[in-house]
Amino acid sequence: MKSAIDELRDIIESSDNIVFFGGAGVSTESGIPDFRSTDGLYSEKYAHPPETILSRSFFNSRTEEFYHFYRTKMLYPGAKPNAAHFALAKLEELGKIKAVITQNVDGLHTQAGSINVFELHGSAHRNICMDCGKVFTTDVILQTEGIPLCTCGGVIKPDVVLYEEGLDHSVLENATLAVSRADVLIVGGTSLNVYPAAGLISYYRGNKLVLINKSETSYDYRANLIIRESIGETLGKAVEKMTGR
Ligand code: ZN
Repeated sequence: MKSAIDELRDIIESSDNIVFFGGAGVSTESGIPDFRSTDGLYSEKYAHPPETILSRSFFNSRTEEFYHFYRTKMLYPGAKPNAAHFALAKLEELGKIKAVITQNVDGLHTQAGSINVFELHGSAHRNICMDCGKVFTTDVILQTEGIPLCTCGGVIKPDVVLYEEGLDHSVLENATLAVSRADVLIVGGTSLNVYPAAGLISYYRGNKLVLINKSETSYDYRANLIIRESIGETLGKAVEKMTGR
C-alpha cells in the first residue's frame, strides 16, 4: 500500500494549481504557541481572557494593558520558519503552489520565501500610526515600553485583526478567489473551527482536498487525504521525495 506521504507527493506532482491554507499549527513547530489550543496561552491565568484583551474595544480603552500582553505573549521576534514554511516556498518556486493563505500574523511564510501570501489576520510586522498612517516595524513595539507613539504623537496599532474587527476585504476576496480556482487544496495546522477558515474552505470546488492536522477537523468527511502528522515533517518529506533532494 502506498504511504500517505507518497499519496501527497503524487497529488502535488499532478497539479500546478495548488493552494495552501494554514492555521496556528503551522507556526507551533517554530516555537510560537497556538493560543487557542488547550495548552496554549488561552488556558493560562490572566485578569481578563485573551479574547477580551485582544479585542478592539480593549485596545481602545486599556491600550497600555493591551501592549503588556501583546509584547509578552504575541510577539516572538526570534522565531524562524520551519520545514513546512520552506517546503511551501519551494513548491511556489516550482510553479506548483499558487497561493498561501494563513491565519498567522508572524510573517514566517514571507520570511521563508513565499511570495503570494494572503495574511487573513494581518501582520505583526506592520504597525500603523492611527493618526497619520505612518508604518513602523515590530521594533517600535519591542523597543518601547507602555504605549508606542508615533513622532506625530499618535498611538501606534499593530496591523493585526483584533476581535470585534473585520478582515481586510481585498485580502479575503483574493483568498476566496484562489480557493475557488484551486485544483488541489492543502489545509494544515487548523481544526477549521474558527471563522473565517471553515467558510473559506467551502469555496473549494475540486476533489483533491488534503488535510494535515494532528487532531480531527470539521472537514474530515470531505477530505480525499487525511494526514495526522507533523506538518513540517509531512510537507518536508513530500517535497524532498518530489525534488529528489
Ligand atoms: Zn503619526
